[in-house]
Amino acid sequence: MLIAGNWKMNTAAGEARDLARAVASSVRDMETVDVAVCPPFVHLVEVSAELRGSHVRLGAQNMHSANAGAFTGEVSARMLKSVGCHYVIIGHSERRQYFGETDIGVNVKVRQALDHGLLPIVCVGELLEERQAGREKEVVSEQVRGALAGMDAIQPGSLVVAYEPVWAIGTGETATPATAQDMHRFVRSLLREVQGADSALILYGGSMKPGNARALLQQPDIDGGLIGGASLRADTFAAIVAAAAEEA
Ligand code: PEP
Repeated sequence: MLIAGNWKMNTAAGEARDLARAVASSVRDMETVDVAVCPPFVHLVEVSAELRGSHVRLGAQNMHSANAGAFTGEVSARMLKSVGCHYVIIGHSERRQYFGETDIGVNVKVRQALDHGLLPIVCVGELLEERQAGREKEVVSEQVRGALAGMDAIQPGSLVVAYEPVWAIGTGETATPATAQDMHRFVRSLLREVQGADSALILYGGSMKPGNARALLQQPDIDGGLIGGASLRADTFAAIVAAAAEEA
């Protein structure tokens, strides 16, 4: 099980430090669960220092696809690795929606992350209107195939996919455990087809909270959660990690 917190564009320096310290302390007895926090870039170094000695790993929320160069304002995989990142979120729906990220761009970033020893958390998920039109599997299939197109088999344990229905992100609306499980089973079979092996953890994301985490994490094809809002407080985040520990 992996529970990863995506802090998005929240927390100023002191807040990030306090949150990291509180998370590390709240989950210290839950070592059967892999835990990660993904703070904004500017806090990575400080949060990394706060996490030293704990089993909570560091992740970034995005990265650029090039090695280095004239890309003002961007951050490379090498930079992330150098400050202690283990994970990097790629293709979050907010990146797709507000910053024009495409499956082709996601594919290049996944390759770059893997080349630098970062573990990509690749986000996929359909919009509400796509689900209403019955196209959710078609959309997710296109995103998963696009993200991994042309890649050799990825070493088992080197890839994470997060299924995040866009209509459930930050809305308080969660996919039912059965709906999420149905998509997770589909994604797992897709990954087997595309990669030829069971190579990835599949996380659920979309308004996961202490009250609904257990039922979601009990599903056979849900291997953890990507948590937005509920990761901004150590107590709610730790409660989700505790729910995962019950299932681990
Ligand atoms: C996310 O943005 O990855 C997410 C799952 O957000 P929330 O938990 O707030 O829905």
